[in-house]
Amino acid sequence: MTNSHASNAGRWLLNRRDFLRFAGTRLSGAALVSLLAFTVFSTPARAEFRAGIAVRVVTPDPLLPVSGGIGPSKPATRKEGDLTVRALVLSDDATKIVIVSADFLGFPSVLGNKARAQVKGIPPENILIGATHTHSGPDCYGFPDGKGGTAADLKYLDSVCSRMAEAINEAATNLRPASLKIATGEAKGKIAYNYYAERLYDPRCHVIQALGPDGKPFATLVNYAVHPEVLGSSVGICSPDLVGPLYARLAEQGAGTGIFMNSAQGGMVTADNRTPGGKDARTWAECERIGRLLADEALRVVTNAPEQKSPVLHCESRTISFPVDSPQLRAVMAASPLGFGTKDTTRVSTQLNLLNIGNAQILTIPGEALPNIGFYLKRNMRGEHNLLFGLTNDAFGYILTRVDWGSFKVYDYVSRTSLGEKTGEIFIEEALRLIAESPAPEKLKP
Ligand SMILES: [Zn+2]
Repeated sequence: MTNSHASNAGRWLLNRRDFLRFAGTRLSGAALVSLLAFTVFSTPARAEFRAGIAVRVVTPDPLLPVSGGIGPSKPATRKEGDLTVRALVLSDDATKIVIVSADFLGFPSVLGNKARAQVKGIPPENILIGATHTHSGPDCYGFPDGKGGTAADLKYLDSVCSRMAEAINEAATNLRPASLKIATGEAKGKIAYNYYAERLYDPRCHVIQALGPDGKPFATLVNYAVHPEVLGSSVGICSPDLVGPLYARLAEQGAGTGIFMNSAQGGMVTADNRTPGGKDARTWAECERIGRLLADEALRVVTNAPEQKSPVLHCESRTISFPVDSPQLRAVMAASPLGFGTKDTTRVSTQLNLLNIGNAQILTIPGEALPNIGFYLKRNMRGEHNLLFGLTNDAFGYILTRVDWGSFKVYDYVSRTSLGEKTGEIFIEEALRLIAESPAPEKLKP
């Protein structure tokens, strides 16, 4: 297998160097054998960092209705771009981490766990599954359609889980020696804004790029907070929205395969598709403009980042749970044909991850945290780059602190579409505890 072959090759080089150093001395055959054995088993091999990425197209054929939130899905008559699932696997000698991105509104753990169960050789708790939050993909929740049914197609969803597992297994099989560039910078230009209060959003774009031994990038992860809802669910189009053109532009610019992880985009950080006339441009051309601009900004941000040759990986995970106070979300859970693992609709639990990748730290958020929560968490994280993976491992609606919950009139919708008043505080407390109890990432800056 590629894995063991590559790391054994590294060890064997060490051995040969040791062997040559001692070759001049007269050692008996037996002594030589034991010397070699000693070197093989006692020299801690320098962690060889490797990475792999793989993609599967999951556009339904024939097309299915698309979902932009709780409520009935809308019919789709054509597609723009393809929905994909993407798996980035990072590995040193001790740890393997998988980051998965899927072009859906959300991807509940009841589905994610089906994919995890089909992955060989990687612990399920090291597999992070995020949704891009496109509002133009099939329903993954089984939202009630108001007529006693749902638009969720269970057979299709099963096939998505299988293709997700295939992508993970392929990326893990094709791991190759790599180094990383990690960077943070403001994405400039007309990309995102806060629909409720224009400037209340986080413009920082985080980038993790994997480079081969030839110095050429083969995978580029872009982490940014935005609602990919340029098209939305009402224009009859199935699409990854702006994330599709983002991927196309990254590839076109020689940045390899892209993978987009959303951030704290709740309430209501959205794509800036406003036109001078005040209307939203709900067109594929606008998806292309924004996606390509975000790609160009991400590449500008990462260009001069230092190369990390042997970044150390660390993966923490724990299960956290929340009370479900929202009658609306209880009703969704009770009615869903997915079977949310329990008949108890008063609590939900999910996987929380904290990763160290080189000098970066990454925290997962099981929903759509408001941008103020995002700023606070990043400020309390311990990396030189602090990334939030929103809508990851689950997406339980909006996450607000109790002082925001039920406050401004414009927060009515996000308050109703949250688990409850306590969700923000519970999440922040659990996240801060996990950060405090876990090792800090390595430092590059002196
Ligand atoms: Zn949303």
